[in-house]
Amino acid sequence: MLTESTRNPADAICHATVKAGDYWLYKVTEGQTLRITDLEGNQAADTLFFNADDIAERYSMPDTVRGQGNVFLTTGTILRSSDDRPMLEIVADTCGRHDTLGGACATESNTVRYDLEKRHMHACRDSWMLAIAEHPEFGLTRRDITHNINFFMNVPVTGDGGLCFADGISAPGKYVELVAKMNVLVLISNCPQLNNPCNGYNPTPIAVTVW
Ligand SMILES: [Zn+2]
Repeated sequence: MLTESTRNPADAICHATVKAGDYWLYKVTEGQTLRITDLEGNQAADTLFFNADDIAERYSMPDTVRGQGNVFLTTGTILRSSDDRPMLEIVADTCGRHDTLGGACATESNTVRYDLEKRHMHACRDSWMLAIAEHPEFGLTRRDITHNINFFMNVPVTGDGGLCFADGISAPGKYVELVAKMNVLVLISNCPQLNNPCNGYNPTPIAVTVW
């Protein structure tokens, strides 16, 4: 559902631009609001969420999908944790639909989906692993890389239950806004994928804003 925000960027406590291929790791406190903006359109933001006070509890795709009875995420979606507790709620969304089924790109999946010669190409899992290595203070390890959300990514479900990566429905300046229901660690990989249309074959920057 398309819903606009009334928040004023001038009042934000944090604003950053994340280049394609970079990561953003940040602790959002309960009650704070996070906005992710697709600056140039057709970009995928592969995102993991953890309970900042107990990282063993993290975003759960199956609990979220079951909780709302819908595979797509938009305004009103409660992102649920592996303990089936509310982590965040989407309170504004000018894109209208976000994927949580497709998973993140990795060098391994690139070789299976596209070609063995794609193995050297930068993938979201690499960015998450770099974030974990560069920020040991959060205690994350590669075991903690599990289900993710692909904000702005268009992954239609076919009539026979399959998935396909389709051309994006996002556009320049579209954003999604989430309110934290607990203290949440946010780990975004701004996707560098070049082999499917999730980034329009041209990965571009996103912006993150916190109130
Ligand atoms: Zn990716």
